[in-house]
Amino acid sequence: MIGGGTGRGRWAEWIAGSNDVTGHFLKAASQPGFVSLAGGLPAAELYPVDAVAAASARALARWGGAALEYGPCEGFPALRSAIAERISRATGGTFHAEHVLLTTGAMQGLDLLGKALVDPGDLIVAQFPTYLGALDAWRPRMPRYERLSWDPDRANPDEQLRAAKFVYAVPNFSNPTGVLVPQHQRAALLERVVRSGSWLVEDDPYLVLQLDDPVGPGLLELDVAERGAGPYDGPVVYCGTLSKSIAPGLRIGWMVGEPELIRMLALAKQCSDLSSSMFTHAVALELLEARVEDAHIPAILSCYRERRDAMHDVLTAELGKWFSGERPSGGMFFWLEARRGAIDTDALYHRALREGVAFVPSSVFDPHGELRTGMRLNFTRNEPDVMAEGVRRLARAVRGYLSEET
Ligand code: PMP
Repeated sequence: MIGGGTGRGRWAEWIAGSNDVTGHFLKAASQPGFVSLAGGLPAAELYPVDAVAAASARALARWGGAALEYGPCEGFPALRSAIAERISRATGGTFHAEHVLLTTGAMQGLDLLGKALVDPGDLIVAQFPTYLGALDAWRPRMPRYERLSWDPDRANPDEQLRAAKFVYAVPNFSNPTGVLVPQHQRAALLERVVRSGSWLVEDDPYLVLQLDDPVGPGLLELDVAERGAGPYDGPVVYCGTLSKSIAPGLRIGWMVGEPELIRMLALAKQCSDLSSSMFTHAVALELLEARVEDAHIPAILSCYRERRDAMHDVLTAELGKWFSGERPSGGMFFWLEARRGAIDTDALYHRALREGVAFVPSSVFDPHGELRTGMRLNFTRNEPDVMAEGVRRLARAVRGYLSEET
């Protein structure tokens, strides 16, 4: 039990509701021979190390000491402008530097949204199941949650959307389910949220990981098309990142939204860290100007396609009897659900760790911790034969679980 009592150890109230699953599987994964299918990690052997080394040298030669200073809270100005141009190009809209806040990964953007918008008891309408990092980021704000429905026939009532501080959505290859939200559902949600007057947060780290067909416009692009020319002033708050297209260790993320909101988020950021690293911003600028992603992304996609297909085959063969799930068309994850709800994946998780494999149990993606029959498996980090070994271990854990249950 965390908290309570007197003296030391009287932690803030929100900490009691937090979980240590992420720390747990990261620690387990460092044991030799352990197979982690848990983390949302890229294939590390593909990180463009030489390109980052060259970009670092160029950044220092170009900016000198300015790349080693504290910087503006909103981020390195030249990178801010470059991201504004990137978003203008991608959406057909008009975005300037004032529409952009650079963040320490997209994760910090989520944290800042909570800080700037949410008081204890406030409502967030979130895609369900919900990205664990978002739940973690907002836990200290102690919000209430309602489920976002993408289905226009079972839409969230207007008064619920109006009451929400924001609506949180991951339309492209959601974490944890890998689901790609169809275009008509995106348009319908956008229309409802615009009507409600709330913010609509589009968290989009997996945009670049399109393994099959092109995904079509996102929420920000759809809103730009509705609004027409002129600097963007709509309700969509877009979160982007270089974590999937270059490397997560750069910790380069961005929030794009109407300038007043960006100013509030910058205030919240000032309270968190004064400023991000100007050095990594200067390096990221070099990487973008050299179009490193153009060379790098095709290699990532062909590796991930092969791994996804290999994982699909082994999951079907080894776990198909007990679990069902779709083959994702992008992103990093398979999402499996126990057939007939017959397996408690929280219990299975501990058994799997003893077999030398980790997955992420569904309960951590539920704000109320009640979703107990699903699991998230990553297909991007490990080579196919390592993933296959991990899935075989998981099948052993399931057999052990079921023999004990019956
Ligand atoms: N949002 C979602 C949905 C994610 O899956 C992740 C992590 N992969 C993030 C945000 C955070 O990404 P980062 O901080 O590395 O940019």
